[in-house]
Amino acid sequence: MPEHLKIRVAKDAGFCFGVRDAIEKAREVAQEHGKVYMLGDIVHNERVVNDLAKENVKVVDSLEEVTDAPVLFRAHGTIPELWAEAGKKDITIVDATCPLVHEIHDEIKKLNVEGRKLIIIGDHGHDEVVAIRAQVPEAVIIASIAEAEALPRMKKAGVVSQSTQMIENVQEIIGILSMKIFDLRFVNTVCFPTRRNQGQIKEIAPISDVMIIVGSFTSANTKRLHEVSLSLNPQSYMVENAYDIQESWFDMAESVGVSAGASSPDDLIEEVVEHLNNLHVKLRV
Ligand code: SF4
Repeated sequence: MPEHLKIRVAKDAGFCFGVRDAIEKAREVAQEHGKVYMLGDIVHNERVVNDLAKENVKVVDSLEEVTDAPVLFRAHGTIPELWAEAGKKDITIVDATCPLVHEIHDEIKKLNVEGRKLIIIGDHGHDEVVAIRAQVPEAVIIASIAEAEALPRMKKAGVVSQSTQMIENVQEIIGILSMKIFDLRFVNTVCFPTRRNQGQIKEIAPISDVMIIVGSFTSANTKRLHEVSLSLNPQSYMVENAYDIQESWFDMAESVGVSAGASSPDDLIEEVVEHLNNLHVKLRV
């Protein structure tokens, strides 16, 4: 290994403000009421979920299990049926929906009022996309270029995207749709923390010998950041924690860039950076 290993950490790697605020809210409510319920994991990150479980944040599958404490609706949004069901059962709801996700819900409703066919660019089955889709009577979800190409021609359509989509993917899909749709209105709802994260990776990846993206393999957002990094640097690796890092990746490396998905906590990123520092010292002696 060369004498120096320069480590560049993306300035805004890790939790976005939506996730950070939701976690904070969960902790506060659990402290105040002794516990708080949540329908599903708050983020796709095992460490965060396990740490919160120790602080009495209880993950349940349905509102039936919510008995003696408030339920927190997560950052990426909740379908209207669950809001209505909780209302009927008189359950206290703590709304931790990210304001930028609320904005996507508002935008798709406006496009619906304009009488447009509705298209959502996003991952099939992802909770955020399911909740966006549920705001309107009908919408088509497309996740890829191939799915955009398969759409029929349309007179008038409106498009929004999942907040964490890859900007290039969205742009390419919009290019295809604009050839098929006479009156197309696209509201760019990729959120600014996602754009900022992707932008920082685009700056760091080409000037680093190795790129490390920290996050859970179950996190679509982290996988997407890894794809962005890979497109610019073939030596890009996704790791869940410091133990996933292999020494052989750094044989000839003089620099490494680090970023992380919006669901990765700060301490995990710090551990990875510390591990890279130690690894360098160890390999040099
Ligand atoms: S990724 Fe963007 S929209 Fe989603 S919770 Fe974070 S800030 Fe909000």
